Amino acid sequence: MSKPLNILFVSSEVEPFAKTGGLADVSSALPRAIKDLGHEIRIVMPRYRFISERRFRLHDIIRLKDIPIPVGDSVHNGNVKSSFIMNLKEKVQVYFLDNETFFGREGVYQNPANKKDYKDNDERFIFFARGVLETLKRLGWQPEVIHCNDWQTGLIPVMMKTIYKHDPFFKNIKTVFTIHNMAYQGAFPPDSFKKSGLPDEVFHHNGAEAYGKFNFLKTALSYADSITTVSEKYAREICESTEFGAGLEGLLAHRKRDLHGLLNGIDPITWDPSNDNFIFRKYDAKSIEAKAENKKALLKRFDMEYDPQRPVIGAITRLVHQKGFDLVLESLEEMLKSGVHFVMLASGDKEMEAKFEKLHKKHPKQIALVFGFDEELAHMIEAGSDMFLMPSRYEPCGLNQMYSMRYGTIPIVRATGGLDDTVEDYQPGGKGTGFKFEAYDHHELLKTVQRAVQVYQKPEEWKKLMRNGMAMDYSWEHSAKKYIALYRDILKP
Ligand code: ADP
Repeated sequence: MSKPLNILFVSSEVEPFAKTGGLADVSSALPRAIKDLGHEIRIVMPRYRFISERRFRLHDIIRLKDIPIPVGDSVHNGNVKSSFIMNLKEKVQVYFLDNETFFGREGVYQNPANKKDYKDNDERFIFFARGVLETLKRLGWQPEVIHCNDWQTGLIPVMMKTIYKHDPFFKNIKTVFTIHNMAYQGAFPPDSFKKSGLPDEVFHHNGAEAYGKFNFLKTALSYADSITTVSEKYAREICESTEFGAGLEGLLAHRKRDLHGLLNGIDPITWDPSNDNFIFRKYDAKSIEAKAENKKALLKRFDMEYDPQRPVIGAITRLVHQKGFDLVLESLEEMLKSGVHFVMLASGDKEMEAKFEKLHKKHPKQIALVFGFDEELAHMIEAGSDMFLMPSRYEPCGLNQMYSMRYGTIPIVRATGGLDDTVEDYQPGGKGTGFKFEAYDHHELLKTVQRAVQVYQKPEEWKKLMRNGMAMDYSWEHSAKKYIALYRDILKP
Protein backbone atom coordinates (compact mmCIF):
# COMPACT_ATOMS: atom_id res chain seq x y z
CA MET A 1 0.00 0.00 0.00
CA SER A 2 1.19 3.53 -0.65
CA LYS A 3 1.92 5.75 2.33
CA PRO A 4 -1.01 6.13 4.75
CA LEU A 5 -2.53 9.61 4.91
CA ASN A 6 -3.21 11.91 7.87
CA ILE A 7 -6.65 13.49 7.72
CA LEU A 8 -8.57 15.84 9.98
CA PHE A 9 -12.36 15.48 9.61
CA VAL A 10 -14.36 18.48 10.81
CA SER A 11 -18.10 18.35 11.44
CA SER A 12 -20.70 20.06 13.62
CA GLU A 13 -22.49 16.78 14.38
CA VAL A 14 -21.16 13.29 14.88
CA GLU A 15 -23.13 10.23 15.93
CA PRO A 16 -23.40 9.20 18.84
CA PHE A 17 -22.51 12.57 20.38
CA ALA A 18 -24.81 15.00 18.54
CA LYS A 19 -27.24 14.42 15.68
CA THR A 20 -29.89 16.39 13.85
CA GLY A 21 -29.74 14.41 10.58
CA GLY A 22 -27.72 12.33 8.16
CA LEU A 23 -24.59 14.50 8.56
CA ALA A 24 -24.04 12.89 11.97
CA ASP A 25 -24.24 9.36 10.54
CA VAL A 26 -21.76 10.19 7.79
CA SER A 27 -19.37 12.00 10.14
CA SER A 28 -19.14 8.90 12.26
CA ALA A 29 -19.14 6.12 9.68
CA LEU A 30 -16.88 7.63 7.01
CA PRO A 31 -13.93 8.36 9.34
CA ARG A 32 -14.21 4.84 10.76
CA ALA A 33 -14.16 3.34 7.27
CA ILE A 34 -11.12 5.46 6.38
CA LYS A 35 -9.35 4.38 9.55
CA ASP A 36 -10.06 0.74 8.69
CA LEU A 37 -8.29 1.28 5.38
CA GLY A 38 -5.15 2.02 7.38
CA HIS A 39 -5.09 5.82 7.44
CA GLU A 40 -4.81 8.16 10.42
CA ILE A 41 -7.99 10.20 10.70
CA ARG A 42 -9.17 12.29 13.63
CA ILE A 43 -12.41 14.20 14.08
CA VAL A 44 -13.10 17.66 15.56
CA MET A 45 -16.56 18.80 16.61
CA PRO A 46 -18.00 21.35 19.05
CA ARG A 47 -18.56 20.24 22.61
CA TYR A 48 -22.25 21.04 23.10
CA ARG A 49 -23.29 21.00 26.73
CA PHE A 50 -25.59 17.99 26.29
CA ILE A 51 -22.65 15.74 25.33
CA SER A 52 -22.21 13.92 28.60
CA GLU A 53 -18.69 13.89 29.95
CA ARG A 54 -19.39 10.74 31.94
CA ARG A 55 -21.25 8.71 29.36
CA PHE A 56 -18.70 9.38 26.64
CA ARG A 57 -15.63 9.49 28.90
CA LEU A 58 -14.45 12.88 27.75
CA HIS A 59 -10.94 13.68 28.93
CA ASP A 60 -9.28 17.07 29.22
CA ILE A 61 -6.12 17.51 27.21
CA ILE A 62 -3.84 19.65 29.35
CA ARG A 63 -1.87 20.91 26.35
CA LEU A 64 -5.06 22.08 24.69
CA LYS A 65 -6.39 24.31 27.45
CA ASP A 66 -7.11 28.04 27.23
CA ILE A 67 -6.36 28.39 23.54
CA PRO A 68 -7.01 32.05 22.61
CA ILE A 69 -9.44 32.26 19.67
CA PRO A 70 -10.39 35.65 18.22
CA VAL A 71 -13.99 36.38 17.22
CA GLY A 72 -14.61 39.99 16.19
CA ASP A 73 -12.91 42.30 18.68
CA SER A 74 -12.90 39.74 21.48
CA VAL A 75 -10.72 36.81 22.26
CA HIS A 76 -12.41 33.67 23.62
CA ASN A 77 -10.87 30.64 25.21
CA GLY A 78 -11.09 27.22 23.64
CA ASN A 79 -10.59 24.06 25.68
CA VAL A 80 -10.28 20.74 23.97
CA LYS A 81 -11.52 17.46 25.34
CA SER A 82 -11.05 14.08 23.78
CA SER A 83 -12.83 10.77 23.36
CA PHE A 84 -13.14 7.97 20.81
CA ILE A 85 -15.62 6.30 18.56
CA MET A 86 -15.18 2.58 18.51
CA ASN A 87 -14.89 0.46 15.44
CA LEU A 88 -14.48 -3.18 14.57
CA LYS A 89 -10.75 -2.88 14.04
CA GLU A 90 -9.62 0.49 15.35
CA LYS A 91 -10.96 3.45 17.26
CA VAL A 92 -11.09 6.99 15.93
CA GLN A 93 -10.06 9.91 18.11
CA VAL A 94 -12.56 12.74 18.49
CA TYR A 95 -11.63 16.20 19.75
CA PHE A 96 -14.36 18.37 21.26
CA LEU A 97 -13.84 22.11 21.14
CA ASP A 98 -15.39 23.51 24.27
CA ASN A 99 -16.42 27.06 25.05
CA GLU A 100 -19.20 27.86 27.47
CA THR A 101 -20.36 31.05 25.71
CA PHE A 102 -20.86 29.43 22.32
CA PHE A 103 -21.55 25.78 22.99
CA GLY A 104 -22.80 25.64 26.57
CA ARG A 105 -26.35 25.09 25.34
CA GLU A 106 -28.90 22.35 24.97
CA GLY A 107 -29.38 22.68 21.19
CA VAL A 108 -27.09 22.14 18.22
CA TYR A 109 -28.25 24.99 15.94
CA GLN A 110 -31.59 25.90 17.53
CA ASN A 111 -32.99 26.65 20.92
CA PRO A 112 -35.04 23.52 21.66
CA ALA A 113 -37.57 25.61 23.62
CA ASN A 114 -38.72 27.74 20.68
CA LYS A 115 -37.14 25.87 17.72
CA LYS A 116 -35.54 29.11 16.51
CA ASP A 117 -31.97 29.27 15.22
CA TYR A 118 -29.54 30.71 17.75
CA LYS A 119 -28.99 34.36 16.86
CA ASP A 120 -25.23 34.06 17.22
CA ASN A 121 -24.75 31.02 14.94
CA ASP A 122 -22.40 33.19 12.89
CA GLU A 123 -20.11 33.81 15.87
CA ARG A 124 -20.43 30.21 17.07
CA PHE A 125 -19.14 28.80 13.81
CA ILE A 126 -16.57 31.54 13.23
CA PHE A 127 -15.23 30.52 16.63
CA PHE A 128 -15.36 26.85 15.62
CA ALA A 129 -13.52 27.31 12.31
CA ARG A 130 -10.79 29.46 13.82
CA GLY A 131 -10.65 27.22 16.87
CA VAL A 132 -10.06 24.10 14.78
CA LEU A 133 -7.02 25.69 13.13
CA GLU A 134 -5.63 27.07 16.40
CA THR A 135 -6.12 23.66 18.03
CA LEU A 136 -4.15 21.93 15.28
CA LYS A 137 -1.25 24.30 15.72
CA ARG A 138 -1.20 23.86 19.47
CA LEU A 139 -1.47 20.10 19.03
CA GLY A 140 1.41 20.07 16.58
CA TRP A 141 -0.28 17.35 14.53
CA GLN A 142 -0.13 18.17 10.86
CA PRO A 143 -2.69 16.46 8.66
CA GLU A 144 -2.26 16.43 4.90
CA VAL A 145 -5.95 17.05 4.31
CA ILE A 146 -8.62 18.88 6.28
CA HIS A 147 -12.01 17.51 5.28
CA CYS A 148 -14.78 20.01 6.10
CA ASN A 149 -18.53 19.35 6.07
CA ASP A 150 -21.40 21.77 5.48
CA TRP A 151 -21.57 25.50 6.14
CA GLN A 152 -20.66 25.26 9.83
CA THR A 153 -17.09 24.43 8.78
CA GLY A 154 -17.20 26.61 5.68
CA LEU A 155 -14.72 29.25 6.80
CA ILE A 156 -11.81 26.87 7.35
CA PRO A 157 -10.51 26.84 3.73
CA VAL A 158 -10.63 30.63 3.38
CA MET A 159 -8.96 31.21 6.75
CA MET A 160 -6.11 28.93 5.66
CA LYS A 161 -5.74 30.87 2.42
CA THR A 162 -5.81 34.33 4.03
CA ILE A 163 -5.23 34.63 7.79
CA TYR A 164 -2.81 31.67 7.82
CA LYS A 165 -1.43 32.19 4.33
CA HIS A 166 2.13 32.72 5.48
CA ASP A 167 2.04 30.23 8.33
CA PRO A 168 4.38 27.35 7.45
CA PHE A 169 2.27 24.95 9.54
CA PHE A 170 -0.62 25.12 7.04
CA LYS A 171 1.43 25.55 3.89
CA ASN A 172 1.00 22.06 2.47
CA ILE A 173 -2.41 21.18 3.87
CA LYS A 174 -5.21 20.77 1.31
CA THR A 175 -8.93 21.15 1.94
CA VAL A 176 -11.91 19.08 0.83
CA PHE A 177 -15.41 20.39 1.44
CA THR A 178 -18.45 18.10 1.37
CA ILE A 179 -21.92 19.46 0.65
CA HIS A 180 -24.55 17.45 2.50
CA ASN A 181 -27.40 19.81 1.61
CA MET A 182 -27.41 22.99 -0.50
CA ALA A 183 -30.47 24.30 1.30
CA TYR A 184 -28.55 25.12 4.46
CA GLN A 185 -26.02 27.82 3.63
CA GLY A 186 -25.29 29.76 6.79
CA ALA A 187 -26.15 33.16 5.25
CA PHE A 188 -25.78 36.07 7.67
CA PRO A 189 -26.12 39.87 7.45
CA PRO A 190 -23.03 41.56 5.98
CA ASP A 191 -22.13 42.93 9.43
CA SER A 192 -21.22 39.41 10.49
CA PHE A 193 -18.27 39.48 8.15
CA LYS A 194 -16.29 41.75 10.49
CA LYS A 195 -16.45 39.13 13.20
CA SER A 196 -14.69 36.58 10.99
CA GLY A 197 -11.31 38.33 11.03
CA LEU A 198 -11.05 37.73 7.29
CA PRO A 199 -9.52 40.48 5.10
CA ASP A 200 -12.07 42.83 3.48
CA GLU A 201 -11.27 41.69 -0.06
CA VAL A 202 -12.79 38.28 0.69
CA PHE A 203 -16.26 39.84 0.93
CA HIS A 204 -16.95 40.07 -2.77
CA HIS A 205 -19.02 38.34 -5.40
CA ASN A 206 -16.28 35.79 -6.16
CA GLY A 207 -15.72 35.00 -2.53
CA ALA A 208 -17.80 35.13 0.62
CA GLU A 209 -20.69 37.32 -0.54
CA ALA A 210 -23.91 36.00 -2.03
CA TYR A 211 -26.98 38.14 -2.62
CA GLY A 212 -25.67 40.78 -0.19
CA LYS A 213 -25.07 38.33 2.63
CA PHE A 214 -22.03 36.73 4.24
CA ASN A 215 -22.58 33.17 3.07
CA PHE A 216 -20.50 30.46 4.79
CA LEU A 217 -21.38 27.76 2.24
CA LYS A 218 -20.49 29.95 -0.70
CA THR A 219 -17.22 30.86 0.99
CA ALA A 220 -16.34 27.18 1.24
CA LEU A 221 -17.29 26.52 -2.38
CA SER A 222 -15.10 29.44 -3.46
CA TYR A 223 -11.99 28.49 -1.51
CA ALA A 224 -11.89 24.71 -0.93
CA ASP A 225 -9.34 22.81 -3.02
CA SER A 226 -11.88 20.14 -3.84
CA ILE A 227 -15.65 19.84 -3.39
CA THR A 228 -17.70 16.72 -3.00
CA THR A 229 -21.34 15.94 -2.51
CA VAL A 230 -23.10 12.79 -1.49
CA SER A 231 -24.43 11.28 -4.73
CA GLU A 232 -23.61 11.55 -8.42
CA LYS A 233 -27.07 12.66 -9.41
CA TYR A 234 -27.18 15.43 -6.79
CA ALA A 235 -23.75 16.59 -8.01
CA ARG A 236 -25.30 17.11 -11.45
CA GLU A 237 -28.59 18.56 -10.19
CA ILE A 238 -26.98 21.30 -8.08
CA CYS A 239 -25.12 22.69 -11.11
CA GLU A 240 -28.23 22.76 -13.26
CA SER A 241 -30.97 24.74 -11.57
CA THR A 242 -31.86 27.08 -8.73
CA GLU A 243 -34.26 24.47 -7.42
CA PHE A 244 -31.29 22.27 -6.45
CA GLY A 245 -28.38 24.73 -6.39
CA ALA A 246 -30.31 27.16 -4.18
CA GLY A 247 -28.82 30.20 -5.87
CA LEU A 248 -25.23 28.92 -5.98
CA GLU A 249 -25.67 26.81 -9.15
CA GLY A 250 -23.56 29.25 -11.22
CA LEU A 251 -20.58 28.93 -8.91
CA LEU A 252 -20.99 25.14 -8.78
CA ALA A 253 -21.13 24.90 -12.56
CA HIS A 254 -17.99 27.03 -12.67
CA ARG A 255 -16.23 24.60 -10.31
CA LYS A 256 -17.61 21.49 -11.99
CA ARG A 257 -14.15 19.99 -12.53
CA ASP A 258 -13.49 20.08 -8.79
CA LEU A 259 -16.95 18.78 -7.83
CA HIS A 260 -17.37 15.04 -7.27
CA GLY A 261 -20.42 12.97 -6.35
CA LEU A 262 -19.41 10.23 -3.88
CA LEU A 263 -22.31 8.20 -2.57
CA ASN A 264 -22.75 7.90 1.18
CA GLY A 265 -22.57 4.43 2.64
CA ILE A 266 -24.40 3.16 5.67
CA ASP A 267 -23.07 2.04 9.01
CA PRO A 268 -23.22 -1.74 8.76
CA ILE A 269 -22.98 -2.25 12.52
CA THR A 270 -25.70 0.14 13.66
CA TRP A 271 -28.08 -0.83 10.86
CA ASP A 272 -27.99 -4.60 10.73
CA PRO A 273 -31.24 -6.56 11.22
CA SER A 274 -29.30 -9.65 12.28
CA ASN A 275 -27.65 -7.76 15.12
CA ASP A 276 -30.04 -4.96 16.08
CA ASN A 277 -30.82 -4.82 19.78
CA PHE A 278 -33.61 -2.29 19.30
CA ILE A 279 -35.82 -4.64 17.31
CA PHE A 280 -38.20 -7.32 18.56
CA ARG A 281 -36.78 -10.23 16.55
CA LYS A 282 -33.46 -10.33 14.70
CA TYR A 283 -33.41 -11.68 11.15
CA ASP A 284 -31.45 -11.82 7.91
CA ALA A 285 -32.05 -12.80 4.29
CA LYS A 286 -32.10 -16.49 5.26
CA SER A 287 -34.68 -15.98 8.02
CA ILE A 288 -36.77 -13.40 6.22
CA GLU A 289 -40.00 -14.83 7.67
CA ALA A 290 -38.97 -13.62 11.13
CA LYS A 291 -39.42 -10.05 9.92
CA ALA A 292 -43.17 -10.53 10.42
CA GLU A 293 -42.61 -10.70 14.19
CA ASN A 294 -41.32 -7.15 14.03
CA LYS A 295 -44.36 -6.06 12.05
CA LYS A 296 -46.63 -7.59 14.67
CA ALA A 297 -44.71 -5.87 17.48
CA LEU A 298 -44.83 -2.52 15.71
CA LEU A 299 -48.58 -2.70 15.08
CA LYS A 300 -49.20 -3.85 18.63
CA ARG A 301 -47.35 -0.88 20.01
CA PHE A 302 -49.85 1.37 18.26
CA ASP A 303 -52.84 -0.80 19.00
CA MET A 304 -53.36 -1.68 15.36
CA GLU A 305 -54.43 -5.03 14.02
CA TYR A 306 -51.92 -7.34 12.34
CA ASP A 307 -52.98 -8.78 9.00
CA PRO A 308 -50.35 -10.35 6.72
CA GLN A 309 -52.37 -9.27 3.67
CA ARG A 310 -52.11 -5.60 4.59
CA PRO A 311 -48.74 -3.88 4.21
CA VAL A 312 -47.33 -1.40 6.71
CA ILE A 313 -45.85 1.74 5.18
CA GLY A 314 -43.22 3.33 7.39
CA ALA A 315 -41.74 6.84 7.36
CA ILE A 316 -39.01 8.46 9.46
CA THR A 317 -38.36 12.05 8.58
CA ARG A 318 -37.78 15.64 9.38
CA LEU A 319 -41.01 17.39 8.40
CA VAL A 320 -39.47 20.06 6.23
CA HIS A 321 -40.11 21.31 2.69
CA GLN A 322 -37.35 19.07 1.27
CA LYS A 323 -38.87 15.79 2.37
CA GLY A 324 -42.09 16.11 0.32
CA PHE A 325 -44.60 15.07 2.97
CA ASP A 326 -47.13 17.55 1.61
CA LEU A 327 -47.61 14.92 -1.13
CA VAL A 328 -48.37 12.35 1.57
CA LEU A 329 -50.91 14.64 3.21
CA GLU A 330 -52.71 14.99 -0.11
CA SER A 331 -52.81 11.28 -0.92
CA LEU A 332 -52.85 9.45 2.42
CA GLU A 333 -56.61 8.96 2.66
CA GLU A 334 -56.68 7.46 -0.84
CA MET A 335 -53.74 5.19 0.10
CA LEU A 336 -55.60 3.95 3.15
CA LYS A 337 -58.39 2.68 0.90
CA SER A 338 -56.07 -0.10 -0.25
CA GLY A 339 -55.91 -1.31 3.34
CA VAL A 340 -52.40 -0.18 4.28
CA HIS A 341 -51.22 0.91 7.71
CA PHE A 342 -49.11 4.04 7.93
CA VAL A 343 -46.59 4.52 10.76
CA MET A 344 -44.66 7.77 10.87
CA LEU A 345 -41.92 9.06 13.17
CA ALA A 346 -41.29 12.72 12.43
CA SER A 347 -40.03 15.96 13.84
CA GLY A 348 -40.30 19.51 12.59
CA ASP A 349 -43.02 21.73 11.21
CA LYS A 350 -45.84 22.17 13.73
CA GLU A 351 -48.45 23.02 11.09
CA MET A 352 -47.76 19.80 9.21
CA GLU A 353 -47.84 17.84 12.43
CA ALA A 354 -51.33 19.21 13.10
CA LYS A 355 -52.52 18.21 9.62
CA PHE A 356 -51.27 14.65 10.09
CA GLU A 357 -52.81 14.58 13.56
CA LYS A 358 -56.18 15.44 12.04
CA LEU A 359 -55.94 12.51 9.63
CA HIS A 360 -54.88 10.24 12.48
CA LYS A 361 -58.00 11.22 14.47
CA LYS A 362 -60.11 10.23 11.46
CA HIS A 363 -58.31 6.91 10.88
CA PRO A 364 -56.86 5.83 14.24
CA LYS A 365 -56.77 2.16 13.24
CA GLN A 366 -54.66 2.78 10.15
CA ILE A 367 -52.43 5.73 11.01
CA ALA A 368 -49.87 5.84 13.83
CA LEU A 369 -47.84 8.97 14.51
CA VAL A 370 -45.00 9.80 16.83
CA PHE A 371 -43.58 13.30 16.82
CA GLY A 372 -40.06 13.69 18.15
CA PHE A 373 -36.64 12.14 17.66
CA ASP A 374 -36.45 8.51 18.71
CA GLU A 375 -33.52 6.32 17.64
CA GLU A 376 -35.03 3.11 18.98
CA LEU A 377 -38.39 3.58 17.28
CA ALA A 378 -36.56 4.42 14.04
CA HIS A 379 -35.04 0.93 14.12
CA MET A 380 -38.39 -0.66 14.99
CA ILE A 381 -40.06 1.06 12.05
CA GLU A 382 -37.33 -0.07 9.64
CA ALA A 383 -37.71 -3.66 10.85
CA GLY A 384 -41.50 -3.71 11.18
CA SER A 385 -42.59 -2.01 7.95
CA ASP A 386 -43.10 -3.62 4.55
CA MET A 387 -42.56 -0.41 2.61
CA PHE A 388 -40.80 2.85 3.36
CA LEU A 389 -41.82 6.22 1.99
CA MET A 390 -39.41 8.94 0.79
CA PRO A 391 -41.21 11.32 -1.62
CA SER A 392 -38.50 14.02 -1.39
CA ARG A 393 -38.50 17.18 -3.48
CA TYR A 394 -34.74 16.79 -3.53
CA GLU A 395 -32.48 14.40 -1.64
CA PRO A 396 -28.69 14.82 -1.66
CA CYS A 397 -28.22 11.16 -0.76
CA GLY A 398 -30.74 9.90 1.78
CA LEU A 399 -29.90 7.13 4.18
CA ASN A 400 -33.21 5.57 5.11
CA GLN A 401 -33.80 4.04 1.68
CA MET A 402 -30.52 2.14 2.15
CA TYR A 403 -31.35 1.15 5.73
CA SER A 404 -34.73 0.00 4.42
CA MET A 405 -33.21 -2.23 1.76
CA ARG A 406 -30.94 -3.79 4.38
CA TYR A 407 -34.02 -4.54 6.49
CA GLY A 408 -36.00 -6.04 3.61
CA THR A 409 -38.32 -3.02 3.65
CA ILE A 410 -39.10 -1.86 0.14
CA PRO A 411 -38.44 1.85 -0.49
CA ILE A 412 -40.95 3.96 -2.42
CA VAL A 413 -39.04 7.03 -3.53
CA ARG A 414 -39.10 10.02 -5.80
CA ALA A 415 -36.40 9.68 -8.48
CA THR A 416 -34.15 12.50 -7.28
CA GLY A 417 -30.53 12.75 -6.06
CA GLY A 418 -29.27 9.79 -4.09
CA LEU A 419 -32.71 8.17 -4.06
CA ASP A 420 -32.53 7.80 -7.83
CA ASP A 421 -28.92 6.56 -7.67
CA THR A 422 -29.61 3.85 -5.09
CA VAL A 423 -33.11 2.49 -5.80
CA GLU A 424 -33.81 0.43 -8.89
CA ASP A 425 -37.44 0.45 -10.00
CA TYR A 426 -39.40 -2.81 -9.83
CA GLN A 427 -39.79 -4.80 -13.02
CA PRO A 428 -42.26 -7.68 -13.39
CA GLY A 429 -40.53 -10.94 -12.55
CA GLY A 430 -39.09 -9.55 -9.34
CA LYS A 431 -36.25 -7.38 -10.64
CA GLY A 432 -35.40 -4.15 -8.84
CA THR A 433 -35.13 -2.95 -5.26
CA GLY A 434 -38.04 -0.52 -4.87
CA PHE A 435 -40.58 1.73 -6.53
CA LYS A 436 -39.83 5.11 -8.05
CA PHE A 437 -41.81 8.03 -9.43
CA GLU A 438 -40.57 11.04 -11.39
CA ALA A 439 -42.95 14.01 -11.25
CA TYR A 440 -43.41 15.82 -7.95
CA ASP A 441 -47.13 15.15 -7.84
CA HIS A 442 -49.40 13.48 -5.30
CA HIS A 443 -51.22 11.47 -7.99
CA GLU A 444 -47.87 10.00 -9.02
CA LEU A 445 -47.08 9.11 -5.41
CA LEU A 446 -50.49 7.50 -4.97
CA LYS A 447 -50.16 5.50 -8.19
CA THR A 448 -46.74 4.26 -7.10
CA VAL A 449 -47.96 3.19 -3.68
CA GLN A 450 -50.87 1.38 -5.35
CA ARG A 451 -48.40 -0.32 -7.72
CA ALA A 452 -46.36 -1.46 -4.71
CA VAL A 453 -49.46 -2.74 -2.91
CA GLN A 454 -50.36 -4.83 -5.96
CA VAL A 455 -46.92 -6.44 -6.04
CA TYR A 456 -47.15 -7.01 -2.28
CA GLN A 457 -50.13 -9.27 -3.00
CA LYS A 458 -47.78 -11.61 -4.91
CA PRO A 459 -45.64 -12.90 -2.03
CA GLU A 460 -43.07 -14.64 -4.20
CA GLU A 461 -42.39 -11.51 -6.23
CA TRP A 462 -42.28 -9.44 -3.07
CA LYS A 463 -39.76 -11.76 -1.43
CA LYS A 464 -37.52 -11.43 -4.46
CA LEU A 465 -37.61 -7.65 -4.08
CA MET A 466 -36.77 -8.00 -0.39
CA ARG A 467 -33.84 -10.29 -1.14
CA ASN A 468 -32.55 -8.04 -3.90
CA GLY A 469 -32.42 -5.12 -1.47
CA MET A 470 -30.89 -7.15 1.33
CA ALA A 471 -28.12 -8.32 -1.00
CA MET A 472 -27.05 -4.77 -1.92
CA ASP A 473 -23.72 -3.63 -0.54
CA TYR A 474 -23.97 -0.06 0.70
CA SER A 475 -21.09 -0.37 3.12
CA TRP A 476 -18.71 2.56 3.40
CA GLU A 477 -15.59 0.77 2.24
CA HIS A 478 -16.24 1.45 -1.43
CA SER A 479 -16.84 5.19 -0.97
CA ALA A 480 -14.06 5.51 1.60
CA LYS A 481 -11.62 4.28 -1.06
CA LYS A 482 -12.92 6.93 -3.44
CA TYR A 483 -12.33 9.64 -0.83
CA ILE A 484 -8.77 8.39 -0.33
CA ALA A 485 -8.19 8.49 -4.10
CA LEU A 486 -9.52 12.04 -4.14
CA TYR A 487 -7.27 13.13 -1.24
CA ARG A 488 -4.27 11.65 -3.05
CA ASP A 489 -5.26 13.42 -6.22
CA ILE A 490 -5.34 16.89 -4.67
CA LEU A 491 -2.07 16.22 -2.83
CA LYS A 492 -0.25 15.63 -6.11
CA PRO A 493 2.32 18.36 -6.62
P1 ADP B 1 -31.50 14.25 6.46
O1 ADP B 1 -30.07 14.32 6.88
O2 ADP B 1 -31.85 15.19 5.35
O3 ADP B 1 -32.46 14.37 7.60
P2 ADP B 1 -30.97 11.46 5.77
O4 ADP B 1 -31.86 10.41 5.17
O5 ADP B 1 -29.64 11.67 5.13
O6 ADP B 1 -31.80 12.80 5.84
O7 ADP B 1 -30.68 11.07 7.29
C1 ADP B 1 -31.66 11.09 8.25
C2 ADP B 1 -31.16 10.34 9.47
O8 ADP B 1 -31.85 10.84 10.62
C3 ADP B 1 -31.46 8.86 9.42
O9 ADP B 1 -30.51 8.15 10.18
C4 ADP B 1 -32.85 8.80 10.08
O10 ADP B 1 -33.14 7.52 10.60
C5 ADP B 1 -32.71 9.83 11.16
N1 ADP B 1 -33.96 10.47 11.58
C6 ADP B 1 -34.68 11.42 10.93
N2 ADP B 1 -35.76 11.79 11.65
C7 ADP B 1 -35.73 11.05 12.77
C8 ADP B 1 -36.57 10.97 13.94
N3 ADP B 1 -37.66 11.72 14.06
N4 ADP B 1 -36.22 10.10 14.91
C9 ADP B 1 -35.12 9.32 14.79
N5 ADP B 1 -34.29 9.35 13.73
C10 ADP B 1 -34.58 10.20 12.74
